[in-house]
Amino acid sequence: MLVRLLYASRATHAMSEAELQAILKSSREHNPATGLTGLLCYSDGIFIQVLEGGRDAVNARYKAIVDDQRHRDVIILSYEEIGERHFAGWSMGQVNLHRLNPALVLKYSATTKLDPYAMSGHALMALFQELVNTGAIVCS
Ligand code: FAD
Repeated sequence: MLVRLLYASRATHAMSEAELQAILKSSREHNPATGLTGLLCYSDGIFIQVLEGGRDAVNARYKAIVDDQRHRDVIILSYEEIGERHFAGWSMGQVNLHRLNPALVLKYSATTKLDPYAMSGHALMALFQELVNTGAIVCS
């Protein structure tokens, strides 16, 4: 059975590009072995991540991620059983926020600032889906 989990968190300190790339590298090394796919977004001290895969694999990795000292205030925005993956092409894709159109954020939230703590999981997932459709995801 496949599930999709969406969460947000706050970095414990401002992430350097090298630190962010280290998380992505580790994710891309670990995720294929357990069949996990998804996207990671980091902006203004906030992480947003969607994880897809088998229920046991997603739950186990989420538990390890929650325990990670590099972030805090982890909040699940959405958890659902799914029939198919939306982000199958990425062992952990990185959302390129330089290509994030403010008008697209405004379509799904109250302001042009991307604040997952003020958005519904449904809206955030729809935004991520549009980012995929518009080619704003980099690396695999
Ligand atoms: P270990 O590698 O043994 O690490 C144990 C703890 O040490 C971690 O929890 C962390 O607090 C700390 N740590 C580890 N490496 C570093 C480092 N380079 N710098 C500072 N502290 C460190 N892992 C995945 O496999 N897939 C993912 O999709 C994924 N997404 C993540 C998203 C975010 C926002 C964050 C912060 C981490 C993510 N990770 C991901 C990493 C994950 O939290 C674990 O570090 C990883 O799963 C390895 O688990 P482990 O139990 O072997 O921990």
